Amino acid sequence: MAHSSSDSGLFMSSGPSTPSGTDSKRQRALPVPKAAATMRTFDPDSSIVSDVIPSPNHGDRNKGRQPDMIVLHYTGMPDVEGALARLCTAGTEVSAHYVVLEDGRIVQCVPEARRAWHAGVSSWAGEDDINSCSIGIEIINRGHDWGYPEYPLRQIAAVIALCRGIILRRKILPQRVLGHSDVAPARKKDPGEKFPWHSLANSGVGHWVTPAPVVRGETLMLGTISDAVLSLQQALARYGYGVPLTGKYDASTMEVVTAFQRHFRPARLDGVADHSTLTTLQALLASLPTDGTNVASK
Ligand SMILES: [Zn+2]
Repeated sequence: MAHSSSDSGLFMSSGPSTPSGTDSKRQRALPVPKAAATMRTFDPDSSIVSDVIPSPNHGDRNKGRQPDMIVLHYTGMPDVEGALARLCTAGTEVSAHYVVLEDGRIVQCVPEARRAWHAGVSSWAGEDDINSCSIGIEIINRGHDWGYPEYPLRQIAAVIALCRGIILRRKILPQRVLGHSDVAPARKKDPGEKFPWHSLANSGVGHWVTPAPVVRGETLMLGTISDAVLSLQQALARYGYGVPLTGKYDASTMEVVTAFQRHFRPARLDGVADHSTLTTLQALLASLPTDGTNVASK
């Protein structure tokens, strides 16, 4: 994909005219897409938002659905400029509520009350209009196609702070803080296996158990047909994954197992349901919180 650079004329530097005007002078100016600069701004939903760059890409939440899920993404583009332009330009049909920069600055593009367009074709726990039930957060990272760098700690700290606020305000359950790959396992890898879900969980964001160690032993894999495969599919579905309940370890079952590993057992991503994968899944199911009380304490 071709991406614009900052000298293409698509951007203007943010400065005193930035919507929120809170950029510190030592920070690099934010590349505000020109189209966004002419849009009506709005008050950010979170007090830690540093800039508002309004996107025209949003609509009504279906039947007034209130968001009770957070979906985390990476932008998967070579630079911030290109990512912000894509999310804030009419016609691209993509957006997110928030964008978290590598230096920890947080940009809001869509008010939380509105339905942003970040999840695409996706499903979780029997629901398939994920955009209507979620808040979408894009994390600036080049992604698997562009070298997939580590997430800087400063950026992760900002993601945690942002999520904690949303969780507190909207009483979001830990098991409903998910990655794009969880809700669209056949299409998406983001935020990917380098995303430190354990660090988020240590700070009260998301559901996590220490993954069981990878050991030699029996596995279920592509082609297996058995009751054990059906049990695996049922367990994945009970956790929320969209997976066929056929007893056959087909390609889509393998994709879902890979997505599960990317989030919960990142030491090995092979789509094979080994002892570690099955044990980790069972431990997650056994520890499913039923309310938000373990999250909200400061
Ligand atoms: Zn995504």
